[in-house]
Amino acid sequence: MTGTTTDFEELATRAGRELEEAAPQEILRWAADTFGKRFCVTSSMEDAVVAHLASSVFPGVDVVFLDTGYHFPETIGTRDAVAATMPVNVITLTPALTVAEQDAQYGPDLHDRDPDQCCALRKVEPLNRGLGGYDAWATGLRRDESPTRANTPVVSWDPRRRKVKIAPIARWTQEDVDAYVNANGVLLNPLLWEGYTSIGCSPLSCTRKPGEGEDARAGRWSGSGKTECGIHL
Ligand code: SF4
Repeated sequence: MTGTTTDFEELATRAGRELEEAAPQEILRWAADTFGKRFCVTSSMEDAVVAHLASSVFPGVDVVFLDTGYHFPETIGTRDAVAATMPVNVITLTPALTVAEQDAQYGPDLHDRDPDQCCALRKVEPLNRGLGGYDAWATGLRRDESPTRANTPVVSWDPRRRKVKIAPIARWTQEDVDAYVNANGVLLNPLLWEGYTSIGCSPLSCTRKPGEGEDARAGRWSGSGKTECGIHL
């Protein structure tokens, strides 16, 4: 589809209403039919659930991964396994600065001192740049992950990037995800078996295992008051 920003904004608002009760595959089919190659999936490589769902309706779909330079080796391994075994086109985005260059310019361990700036440099800017060639992008956001994600629409307008944002599994629970993974043999980041429930960058200030009774994202930037990297704000 080609259209103006207003067209896409109206389209997103209408689709958010009409697809609220739709299955993830139906939402992704709509995205593939509407946007074709100007649609991509983003993945943190915590699992390959959305990539798997998308590739089942759109083989060869672009799967965009942000390599911050701070990932766990298991996350990079999951990315490589997805690229090697699934019918998707993995695209790795990198920040403008290497970690060494960032350390030289901003001082070491910026993630501990100013995680918002670190995420802005290593996640938000590269994603904004990388999404330039697309009209719509899908994420794995789910309403049950945290209170801040409880109202995530299945399709919405992303006003900062001026793109259609799709959250095909927004309505799924962790049980739904587990059932899909088990039924389809979906690739998972091995850190999930070690007790991590949300996997971001490896510094302890950015990702720790949650405690008993904490929500799935409680271990992200724990104690800092920060709950999102800035991509989904
Ligand atoms: S999650 Fe941590 S290391 Fe990764 S970009 Fe954000 S602050 Fe930096």
